[in-house]
Amino acid sequence: MAGVLRRRLLSVAASSIVAGSAARASGEQQKVSQAEAQYQDRPKNGLSCATCALFRPPAACAVVSGIISPNGWCRFFDLPD
Ligand code: SF4
Repeated sequence: MAGVLRRRLLSVAASSIVAGSAARASGEQQKVSQAEAQYQDRPKNGLSCATCALFRPPAACAVVSGIISPNGWCRFFDLPD
């Protein structure tokens, strides 16, 4: 399941990178928007950002932009290996 999620994430991230070439040229780091990630500020099915391999404490994510709650969740949730 983690492999499928990673492939989906890479696909979306690649699309975002192509679409955001102007921002990349200015040095801005490319991340998926919270809307595109279907981010919510509460857990889903007992899963939350605090246990996701992509969470970057205290309130960031490696792939989703903006402030990320440890209690949040998005469709790219990925359990650590
Ligand atoms: S579930 Fe993981 S990938 Fe999604 S916003 Fe939270 S830390 Fe980032």
